[in-house]
Amino acid sequence: MLERNFLSKNIAAVSQQIAAAEREPGQVTLLAATKTQSADTIRAAHALGIRNVGENYLAEALPKIQALTDLQLTWHFIGRIQSNKTQEIADHFDWVHCVDRAKIANRLSRQRSEAAPPLNVLIQVNIDADPDKAGIEPDDVADLAEHIISLPNLRLRGLMTILNQATDPGVGYRSMAQLAAAVGEQLTRRYGEASTLQWDCLSMGMSGDMQTAIEAGATIVRVGTALFGKRETGTSPA
Ligand SMILES: *Cc1c(COP(=O)(O)O)cnc(C)c1O
Repeated sequence: MLERNFLSKNIAAVSQQIAAAEREPGQVTLLAATKTQSADTIRAAHALGIRNVGENYLAEALPKIQALTDLQLTWHFIGRIQSNKTQEIADHFDWVHCVDRAKIANRLSRQRSEAAPPLNVLIQVNIDADPDKAGIEPDDVADLAEHIISLPNLRLRGLMTILNQATDPGVGYRSMAQLAAAVGEQLTRRYGEASTLQWDCLSMGMSGDMQTAIEAGATIVRVGTALFGKRETGTSPA
């Protein structure tokens, strides 16, 4: 487990960076990307104010979720989704950031318990046409969004992206913000302001580029290294 002092300083530094970059106080949610971190480290982060946690791998996440049920944490699935894992994702997470096809959305909605609040969903967009990353093409986002809105147990909240290392983050994140605005307008025209449409999230930015992402309009930044230090394994985002 990480030393409390180290964690405390890092959380303060990241929170300061966020506060300096956001347009309105509270615009941005800090999501701690906790892959490879222990349940005890997450517990310590919670004691220091962290409330949103993102995990990439189901087998790694489930024991941590189990160990931390006494805490008020919001769990986000931020990894690649395999269709044979959707039941457990639907059962144990509050948010899913990486939905990029109708099949996955259909399964998540069907498998989400009606007794639970709807599962918050973001559509992952491959904004820089990276052949190695998941995500839907920008031109196909609106259709998938309309499909997800039609599903009963999901609540579509916006878009998410992971940029290729070679992509200029300013360019990539501004393109995402434009796409989110354009799709949001289209959905509002179609469903009206009064509907249950809640298109309010843009999940983008990590340790190295969160400032640029926030300036472009991010509302959720996913931060690992800047909070917990360098990971020994699993360094690249899935
Ligand atoms: C690991 C991970 C992050 C955090 O990356 P850092 O560079 O350590 O801040 C963000 N998003 C996803 C999807 C990740 O897998």
